[in-house]
Amino acid sequence: SEAGTTRTALVTGASRGIGRAVARRLARDGMVVAVHYGSDAAAAQETVDLIAAAGGRAFAVGADLASYDGVLTLVDGVRAGLAAHTGRTADSGAPLDVLVNNAAVATSGGHLQDETVEGFDRLFAVNVRAPFFLVQQLLPVLRDGGRIVNIGSGVTRIALADELAYAMTKGAMETFTRTLANVVGARRITVNTVAPGPTETAALTARLAAVPELEHLMIAGQALPWVGQPEDIADPVAFLASPDGRWITGTVIDASGGTYLG
Ligand code: NDP
Repeated sequence: SEAGTTRTALVTGASRGIGRAVARRLARDGMVVAVHYGSDAAAAQETVDLIAAAGGRAFAVGADLASYDGVLTLVDGVRAGLAAHTGRTADSGAPLDVLVNNAAVATSGGHLQDETVEGFDRLFAVNVRAPFFLVQQLLPVLRDGGRIVNIGSGVTRIALADELAYAMTKGAMETFTRTLANVVGARRITVNTVAPGPTETAALTARLAAVPELEHLMIAGQALPWVGQPEDIADPVAFLASPDGRWITGTVIDASGGTYLG
């Protein structure tokens, strides 16, 4: 039956950017995708429509991940959506195959001296606390042999003074990845981080248009000669989510085109 064969995924922060590319790619691989968004319902619907236009299946779920209540809202929405779209429920076998923790905030004070307590707490709430409790709440409905992929960042390796607290959240997620992999491994669930370098989402497209020499400067710091695209991140996520990724767990995969290799 369909309920037994359809693979499913939740991608947080899939209303735009890298999350949208991941959602589209997993849908292309045949998964029913829960497209999570924080505030931009119209953008999330656009992701759903793009997937539908390509012959895939998806639905949108909104939740503000800055609060713990938002995490619970998301869990409820995903469970209801998966039941409606696949017939798979917690009772008929774990309905979720893949969880991609992508949603994050990058903006805050920046430099050490400019950071505020509120900004710091928000970074850790969205980037660390939310994925932690999302995993806690979704593990019972994640099938054995399922996948967890966290979107990290090259900033755990490349020290950028103006992204200090943000980088710390990504460091926490790398530790989460490694330890969680050991916790859930007996269930054949893998946990990995894909760590992008600078990637051309809308903000970078605008900066590239405003500062013509930026593209050359970026490429000069990379081994590979193009500006990273959301699809360049989505493809390794899809690999980890596929059966081919079964023996890889607890790792960080750098997807930065070889940024600052030396
Ligand atoms: P965007 O800023 O383009 O999109 C962020 C996504 O997260 C949106 O879907 C947004 O939803 C959601 N989101 C933000 N805040 C919240 C919140 N409080 N509650 C719920 N959802 C929220 O992100 P990118 O595509 O640039 O980045 C995606 C991931 O990749 C992040 O983990 C980021 O740290 C990482 N990364 C990105 C790099 C880059 O160059 N772009 C480089 C390295 C890592 P909505 O808009 O609906 O509110």
